[in-house]
Amino acid sequence: MTTETSGDVRLTGISKTYGSFTAVHPLDLTVPQGSFFALLGASGCGKTTTLRMIAGLEEPSSGTVHLGDQEVTHLPPYKRPVNTVFQSYALFPHLDIFENVAFGLRRRGIKSVRKQVDEMLDLVQLGEQARKKPHQLSGGQQQRVAVARALINHPKVLLLDEPLGALDLKLRRQMQLELKRIQTEVGITFVHVTHDQEEAMTMADTVAVMNGGRVEQLGSPTDLYENPQTTFVANFLGTSNLIEAEVDTRSGEDVVLKAGGGKLVLPRARCSAPAQTGGKVLVGIRPEKISLTHADDAGAIPVGRNRITGRIAHSSFIGVSTQYVVDSAVCPEFEVYAQNIERDSRLVPGADVVLHWSPAHTFGLDAAQD
Ligand code: ATP
Repeated sequence: MTTETSGDVRLTGISKTYGSFTAVHPLDLTVPQGSFFALLGASGCGKTTTLRMIAGLEEPSSGTVHLGDQEVTHLPPYKRPVNTVFQSYALFPHLDIFENVAFGLRRRGIKSVRKQVDEMLDLVQLGEQARKKPHQLSGGQQQRVAVARALINHPKVLLLDEPLGALDLKLRRQMQLELKRIQTEVGITFVHVTHDQEEAMTMADTVAVMNGGRVEQLGSPTDLYENPQTTFVANFLGTSNLIEAEVDTRSGEDVVLKAGGGKLVLPRARCSAPAQTGGKVLVGIRPEKISLTHADDAGAIPVGRNRITGRIAHSSFIGVSTQYVVDSAVCPEFEVYAQNIERDSRLVPGADVVLHWSPAHTFGLDAAQD
């Protein structure tokens, strides 16, 4: 375990208002040294404003910003041990790649820059391109130059504001892995802003999901995906089927709910709602956790699984899986992603089916939250 804390980012009660509009509500957030942290949310949720307050590009309306033990709330950007990479790479077009990366060192009056620049270009795997001009590189390569140019200043924290937003999907996926590799190699704190949930989940150790200027949930990608606490998070990270249900009883570690004519079981530990008898809970299940069985074979479904009946409305074969939309009394358009391991030719639109899944994969949300 590391005890190094100089790259911790600590936001305490920071907020930002523009006139009567609150872009970021008072927010407490700690990003541990050496982690890859993502601020994730839809356009306008306040993620860039939060990042800019860490960078010093925006003055908070309240609260403090600490980088390690140092309070930097009122320091200008250039006096903070941070560097920012923006979506627009902002490379100098007339300088070659080597000089673009060397720029920060030269500005500080450092004369012998070769060793450091070569190391940085190797880190981003652009050693061969050193004498090219930015326009001779692909978008992904230019973005790697921007990362090298920021890292050569040895910041304690690298801030990335939608750095992959201008790249096409394939390049973006490559760059996600590349940025993750670079972060692991240099070991400094990365704070990454994105609206792309897949990007955040691929790269980050911890993700803060923002909505309306607030952090709605904070956790590891797996935790957010498997245990969303709000409908916003459940729907923003992947697809969720949500069933409105009523709490019937509590039984040991489980909550038993009534939905339509049947019962569903939900582990209490996976329920973020109060779960009082008679209370409403939204029961959630991810499409890939569901099995689909033709109604004629319902007797073969193991006991102990949650189940609902329905009728296939649509199906589409997409190679590794088939996606079904099933109409049922408790959820009008239930989505199911079934792996094509054992395809059943009877599972076609119009077929009566039973959807079933393990209670362990079920999560519960407060139906009254929104
Ligand atoms: P995007 O992905 O579109 O950049 P975001 O989540 O990063 O969105 P912010 O840029 O942080 O959102 O903006 C949050 C809110 O604050 C938005 O509604 C935006 O219009 C507003 N806002 C940002 N900067 C200003 C400003 N200088 N003056 C007034 N309102 C602003």
